[in-house]
Amino acid sequence: MPDRPPPTETMRAVVVPRHGGPEVLEIATRPRPVPGPGEVLLQVQAAGVNHLDTFVRRGMPGITLPLPMIPGSDAAGVVVALGPGAAGVKERDRVFVSPGYSCGRCRACLSGNEPLCRFYGLLGEHRDGTQAEYVALPVAQVLPLPAGVSFEAGAAFPLVFLTAWHMLVARAGLRPGEEVLIHAGGSGVGSAAIQIAKLHGARVLTTAGGAEKGAKAKVLGADEVIDHRSSDVLAEVRRLTGKRGVDVVVENVGQETWEKSLLALAKGGRLVTCGATTGYEAKTDLRHLFFKGLSLLGSTMGSRAELLQIADLVAAGRLRPVVDRVLPFEQAAEAHRLLAARAVFGKIVLTP
Ligand SMILES: [Zn+2]
Repeated sequence: MPDRPPPTETMRAVVVPRHGGPEVLEIATRPRPVPGPGEVLLQVQAAGVNHLDTFVRRGMPGITLPLPMIPGSDAAGVVVALGPGAAGVKERDRVFVSPGYSCGRCRACLSGNEPLCRFYGLLGEHRDGTQAEYVALPVAQVLPLPAGVSFEAGAAFPLVFLTAWHMLVARAGLRPGEEVLIHAGGSGVGSAAIQIAKLHGARVLTTAGGAEKGAKAKVLGADEVIDHRSSDVLAEVRRLTGKRGVDVVVENVGQETWEKSLLALAKGGRLVTCGATTGYEAKTDLRHLFFKGLSLLGSTMGSRAELLQIADLVAAGRLRPVVDRVLPFEQAAEAHRLLAARAVFGKIVLTP
C-alpha cells in the first residue's frame, strides 16, 4: 500500500476505547480519513446500531478486537471524495454501505458466497466502522441508495435484512405456503424476517414480548403473534399449526430457545440460526434430527447481490426498514442500553 498523505482535518466519531458497559462509549475527535487507491470518502448521514455493536463493546470470549475501534456496520450518506483510480461512483452520489467485505477474487466470493471467504470481515467488528462523520471505503462496498429511500432507512436495512434474507431464501429455501416461526419479531432481524417471509408467500408465526410489540408485528404482516412472556411458545405453535409444527424456524436466541425450536419443527423442517444471544451450548436430541428428517442450517450475513435485490424491494415499497428512533451520536450509550433492554421495535439509527 502506498503511503497516504497526512489527514488535514478531523471528524467526530463514536469510539469503543476498551471493553465494558455502555458508559465506556466516547465521542472522540479523529483524523478525517483520506480515501486510498480505489476508495471513496463517504460523508455519513445516518449509521445503524446493531446488537453486534453491543457485543463489540462488551467483548466476545475468544475473540480479540482491535480496540480502540469505531463501531457500526450500517450507514448511508454522500460520496464527497474519490481516491486514485476509484471508478463507478462520483462525488455527491447517495449510497449505502455493504457491511461485509471480502477478498473479491476467491471461489466463495465469485460464487456469491462472500461470507464464506476466508478474509470475510465486518465493518465495526474487524476494522473501524460507520459511526463517524466520515468513512473511507473500497468502491465495491458502497452501493447506490435508490431514489426515495431516506438516509435513515438506508442505514437501517443492510445488516438485518441481508441476514434475514440469506437465512430464509438462500439457506432455508422458503417456499410459498410454508409455515415459519420467527423468534423475536420485534428485533431488527425479526422485523425483517417477517416481511421477507410474507413476500415469499409463507404463513408467519412470530414471538413478541408484550401486546404493543405484538400489534406492530401484525402491521408488518405476521399472521400469528405469540407473546413469549405470557404463553408457552411450543404449545402455541402446535395449536396454530394443527399439531403439525412449522417448516422453518428462524433462530437467533440460542441456548434458551433451541430445544423448543427443534420441537416446533414439522417433519422435514429446517432450523436456520444466525446467532446465540442467550448462550451457545444448546442441546440437540439427535433422535429428533434423524427421525423427523430435520436440517440444521447456519447462516451469517449474505452477498452483495442479495443486498442489491433487497434495496430494489425497499425502493419499490415491498420491504420496509423499521426505524424505532433516530438519536444523535452523543446518545450512542443510550442506544446500547435500549437494545440490551429490548426496549426497541426494529432499529435505532444514529446521526452525526
Ligand atoms: Zn474471497
